[in-house]
This record gives sequence, C-alpha cells and structure tokens, in this order.
Amino acid sequence: MENFDYLIVGSGLFGSTFAHLAANQGKKCLVIDKRPHLGGNVYCENIEGINVHKYGAHIFHTNNKEVWDFVNSIVEFNRYTNSPVANYKGKLYNLPFNMNTFHQMWDVKTPEDAKAKIEEQKAEAVAALNGNEPQNLEEQALTLVGKDIFYTLIKEYTEKQWGRKCTDLPAFIIKRLPLRFVFDNNYFNDRYQGIPIGGYNKLIDGLLDGLECKTDVDFFKSEFRDWRKYADKLVYTGAIDEFFDFRFGKLDWRTVSFKTRIENTPNYQGNAVVNYTSLDEPYTRVIEHKHFEMFGQDVYDCPKTVVSEEYSTEYKPGMEPYYPVNDDRNNLLSEKYRELAFKESDVIFGGRLAEYKYYDMAPIIEHVLNMNI
Ligand SMILES: Cc1cc2nc3c(=O)[nH]c(=O)nc-3n(C[C@H](O)[C@H](O)[C@H](O)COP(=O)(O)OP(=O)(O)OC[C@H]3O[C@@H](n4cnc5c(N)ncnc54)[C@H](O)[C@@H]3O)c2cc1C
Repeated sequence: MENFDYLIVGSGLFGSTFAHLAANQGKKCLVIDKRPHLGGNVYCENIEGINVHKYGAHIFHTNNKEVWDFVNSIVEFNRYTNSPVANYKGKLYNLPFNMNTFHQMWDVKTPEDAKAKIEEQKAEAVAALNGNEPQNLEEQALTLVGKDIFYTLIKEYTEKQWGRKCTDLPAFIIKRLPLRFVFDNNYFNDRYQGIPIGGYNKLIDGLLDGLECKTDVDFFKSEFRDWRKYADKLVYTGAIDEFFDFRFGKLDWRTVSFKTRIENTPNYQGNAVVNYTSLDEPYTRVIEHKHFEMFGQDVYDCPKTVVSEEYSTEYKPGMEPYYPVNDDRNNLLSEKYRELAFKESDVIFGGRLAEYKYYDMAPIIEHVLNMNI
C-alpha cells in the first residue's frame, strides 16, 4: 500500500472536510470509517424516494458567510427554514415562542398585550418564591416565562428529554428562554440555513470526490491501528477515551433513539418537525423527512412519506453516542484524556467524539477551514 500524508479515521463532516482541504493542497489521504457508509451522523438513507436522516434531523444553519459559501461550493443548499410546531394534548402552537404562540395561547393580538400577560405571570412566580432564589428548573423557568408557557410547552417536554421531573433538575440548565414579540416562526436567528439539494450524502460525496475511502473498517480492529506504517499523520475523529484504551474509565453520553415508519399518505403532519410537549406521548418529536427537501406540489408528487418518532434514551454501551454529558465527572475525565491527546504530536484529534464536545455542523466546518493543514 502506498504511503499517505494523512490517514483519516471517520468520514463525518470533520473527517470529510479535512480530507477535502488536504487533497486540494496535494496531500494524499486515506479515509476509513467503521460504519457501512460514509458521512457519519449526517448520512441519509433513501426510503421511498425520500432522504431519511438516519441519525437524527440535521438542519444546517450559520452566520458565517465563508462557511456558507464553502458548503454551497460543494452542493447548492435549498431554502428550508426550520419552523417547528408544538402539539400539546392535540392543540398546536408555533415555536419558537413568538407572537403566533402567544396569540394561540391567549388570543392576544399585540406585542404590548402579550408582554403584559407574560409579565403578570412572571411576577406571580417571583412572588411565590418569597424572596428566595429559584431552587430547581421548574421554579427558574416559571420566573422566566410564567405558568402558561411553562406548563404547556416546557415542563413535560423537558421531563421526557431528561427522564427526570423539572423539580429534580438544577435551575442552571435554563438560563434564559428567548421570547419574540414579532410574528416570526423561524427557529434560527442565523442569516443562512438550508439542506443540501439532493440531501447530505451529496455534500459528503462532493467533499470526498476522488479520494480513497474504505467503509466497514474499524481503526482499532484493523491493520491501520499500526497507522505509522501507512501515513505520516493521523486525523482521528472517533471517541477519545477509546483511543487511549479507556485508561481512565469510560466517558458517558446521552443518546436518542428513533422509530421510523412509512405512512401511506403524501403529507402526514404538514411540517418537518412537530414537538410533542405532553407526557401523553412517550416520544419528544416526530420528524417527517420529506419536508426538508420537498416543497409545494413536490410533496404530493411523492405518494408516500417517512416519519420518525424520537425518544430520549438512557445511553448504554453499544448505542450511538450522541451528546456529551457535561457533569463534573465527565468534564474531569475528558480533560485527562485531552492532556494525553496533547502529547500525541502526529495525531490530530477533531470532531464531536474526539473532542467530547457538542458541535453543530457549521462550527465543525469553520474549525477545519481555520486549521493549518
Ligand atoms: C441527534 C442529533 C441531531 C443533530 N442535529 C443537528 C442540526 O440540526 N444542525 C447542526 O448543525 N448539527 C446537528 N447535529 C450535530 C452534527 O451531527 C455534528 O456537528 C456532526 O455530525 C459532527 O461531525 P463529526 O465528523 O465530528 O462526527 P460524526 O458525524 O459522528 O463522524 C465521526 C465518524 O467517525 C467514525 N468512527 C468512530 N470511531 C471509529 C473507528 N474506531 N474506526 C473507524 N471509524 C470510526 C464514525 O463511524 C463516524 O462516521 C446533531 C447531532 C445529533 C447527535
């Protein structure tokens, strides 16, 4: 086998973007991934002509023009705008909390009336504390938005997400709850957002175009463990604790599981994202994937639809690690692994697993664009 400049472990957005930029500088790269496909968590599976976000709904959004221009130079992005809807016991509310939500909740029609209602309920919550600081998430949220928004749109949803009562969760989890006094259902404040036209696989295919890639290859169980035989440098985007044989112990993760099914109707819920904010349903969200990429008549020209229920799930070994747990134990442990990583001068640790850090997609790309490759 020829000698590579970089062996890149992991073909997610970090690994693929790195490989693309390195190859553009004339560097020889080999990309390996233990999954049977490339793309990491942005990979989509095509079912009934619909791109299904297999590892959770992914919406690209950024304020950074350089990042936006870069991804659009690989594949053009569509005009998808995330505007989720909340369903509480059968009644629908727009998100994020804005004038549409307040109108649906109280029939108010002006920002002044909405503000007055919220201020009245916040004052009630503050009075109930009798001069004490909020002791838990429930008390904190009540002082920030008042009882109606809290009990309808926050309380039970948060309890499903965390698997614990809001009164048992610490107050610091919620520092602020943004309220918009305009009729604007656009979830993100960023200037740019969208989904690659043709799906995320097009983005990954474009980034890795012409590069040597191998799937179904686990770094630790393959010849590449002895990577110095094959490459001058290693780019590692797998889990940092695994790289060091879990020397100090295993890092914890939170995860999400999905139940995906085909519905025999062209339009099941009329929106890509519907949050279920009551404990009546065990799932937190239902995603209807076609709405990320099909608009207008296209929705009806595709006769079926694919929906995924999302469940907040306790992580166990063997499950997909999704979100790092930022408690004291895991912060300390990840710091110890980072110190080891720092000493590996020929290894670049990058991405959400190797840095044990939650990243949105755009910051991952921004990070790689700013690296000295
Ligand atoms: C449920 C969920 C929803 C999200 N939604 C959004 C969103 O709406 N918008 C947004 O901007 N971001 C979103 N994100 C974040 C986004 O997924 C990440 O920013 C992105 O995936 C990070 O890319 P990465 O390359 O670091 O990791 P990954 O995509 O996880 O890639 C790592 C790759 O390394 C491979 N690998 C690991 N170990 C080995 C090994 N031993 N050998 C070989 N290969 C290995 C894995 O198989 C994987 O393919 C979401 C994340 C989650 C979990």
